[in-house]
Amino acid sequence: MKSEEIKHYFRQQIKKLHPDKGGSKEEFLSFLKWYKQVSENLEKKKKIDIVSSWPLKGNYFFGILELTVEEIALGKNKKFQVPGEEFICPDCKGTGKNQKGKIEMCGFCKGSGVVKIIDNRKNIPTYFNCSYCKGSGTLFTQTCEKCKGKGKIKLVKEIYISIPYGLKNGDILFLPKEETNSFYDLYLEISVLPHPYFDLNNNNLIYKCRVPFWEIILKKEILIHTLEGVEWIPSSFFTKGTPILIKGRGPFLENGNRGDLLIDFQIYIPEEIPLEAKKLISQAVELINLSKKTCKI
Ligand SMILES: [Zn+2]
Ligand SMILES: [Zn+2]
Repeated sequence: MKSEEIKHYFRQQIKKLHPDKGGSKEEFLSFLKWYKQVSENLEKKKKIDIVSSWPLKGNYFFGILELTVEEIALGKNKKFQVPGEEFICPDCKGTGKNQKGKIEMCGFCKGSGVVKIIDNRKNIPTYFNCSYCKGSGTLFTQTCEKCKGKGKIKLVKEIYISIPYGLKNGDILFLPKEETNSFYDLYLEISVLPHPYFDLNNNNLIYKCRVPFWEIILKKEILIHTLEGVEWIPSSFFTKGTPILIKGRGPFLENGNRGDLLIDFQIYIPEEIPLEAKKLISQAVELINLSKKTCKI
């Protein structure tokens, strides 16, 4: 339902259900709760803008948001990690080396901690603290585990994105920093992960499957996958050509409606059929033809 339709439906129902008009109080309250949830969801969905490009300059974060077909179709909530604050690693004090690990002699000052530089004109040596080992004569050789040798730690912030309906591969979501409470504005490009049997096409969900020919003949119902899980549909649907259209069971769309589910099936016939099986099949064909003839007379 579209948001206007929902509002209209709400106004109609609330008059009927109101306890003053003789309605039950529980029903009235549960209806109010339903409306609150639905309208909150609609509001949330509206917040995220889809843009066609991102700026060349500015303080923002650009990332790829990988989504499954189901996440797009159902507009689920998605966890995403964005870079947060950066600070100097407290364990290694920014050096990137384990301060309690193995030590080696500093090769630059040969362990003395001092570097002698002779000024040629005056021929007077000047002494400096070795800048490599900071005068200690030794160096830590193991990488700091906390910062993985970087000397800095970047905090990661987790945000939850309410996936807007009707997304396509390559769409870019724009989330201002105020909304996600992070350091940067976010530009996230949508990348749809390949799915073993689902695909999105325009406003529909395509379900690709192979059905063995004997299942169509022998079974009353065939098991299929939908966005809501697995379910059985009559095998007679598979005798009328592909695709099978199941209305309103596709992805949720921007306008609040749902697209269709299209079952793009292939009838599976094994490449090699044993001779004995072929004989039985031809017997079956004879019987089928016989029954057809009898029916016609
Ligand atoms: Zn460190
Ligand atoms: Zn040194």
